[in-house]
Amino acid sequence: MLIYLNGKLVPKEEAKVSVFDHGFLYGDGVFEGIRIYNGRIFKLKEHIERLYASAHAIDLKPPLTQEELLQATVETVRANNLRDGYIRIVISRGEGDLGLDPKKCPNPTVVIIADKIAIYPEEVYKKGMKIITVSTRRNSPQALNPNIKSLNYLNNILAKIEANRANVPEAIMLSIEGYVAEATGDNIFIVKNKTLITPPLHLGVLPGITRQTVIELAKERGIITEEKPFTLYDVYTADECFLTGTAAEIVPVVEVDGREINGGVPGEITLLLMKDFHEYVKKEGVEVYKD
Ligand code: PMP
Repeated sequence: MLIYLNGKLVPKEEAKVSVFDHGFLYGDGVFEGIRIYNGRIFKLKEHIERLYASAHAIDLKPPLTQEELLQATVETVRANNLRDGYIRIVISRGEGDLGLDPKKCPNPTVVIIADKIAIYPEEVYKKGMKIITVSTRRNSPQALNPNIKSLNYLNNILAKIEANRANVPEAIMLSIEGYVAEATGDNIFIVKNKTLITPPLHLGVLPGITRQTVIELAKERGIITEEKPFTLYDVYTADECFLTGTAAEIVPVVEVDGREINGGVPGEITLLLMKDFHEYVKKEGVEVYKD
């Protein structure tokens, strides 16, 4: 496996980062997770735009342009000869001293990893997922805005630990005010009276690329889509519920906190959108092996 590290493709064993890197010391940095479907990098431009928006929000200046990073990503996938897989791009603050001051880190670290992907078993998509709500609240946008895809994932990891203890693969996190925000690594949607509803970004959720894709696919089908706050009551009484994310794609949710949704089977609109999504990923994306 070849890893892109600060402008060079190096073997995995040589891809090493300093222990003084503030990504390691403080979780100071940003990242992206991207899918490769059939030799195409799905929504690469959108992921890079989100990465640069996250970097800008934490006042981190990437050492390469968006176009250069796009090319580097394509080259990394090509060098590893992958047609399907998962890409992780990380831009950390870089090496500094033991203090937390980012001023002491003049050179951000840039890493691109292209690897195989671990996905949920097929059964989860057929039968749907049972999840719970965890007590760990999603970070307040006033403290650390979840719009930023930062390396600081402890908030989500604390929620994931609760999910692990309850033996469920995902969990709902509420905002400080008690509205449904998102899952530990996925966005959430409900369907009520044929309307698709997802929490608005200002509530403090990641602007998911899959979330946006699903909104667009739903609109193309003429499904009314709303971004508005809702509560657990709305989830428990929803006609359908599903999660979206780069790795998870669209996962039907059939039970939340012991309350069955749609009689415990994936909903009709959920299944339609899953089908549309699978068709869409085949044709969208930056081609890796054009020549
Ligand atoms: N929310 C969080 C907290 C995430 O980490 C992710 C990405 N895994 C998502 C939502 C989904 O975003 P995307 O569709 O861009 O992968």
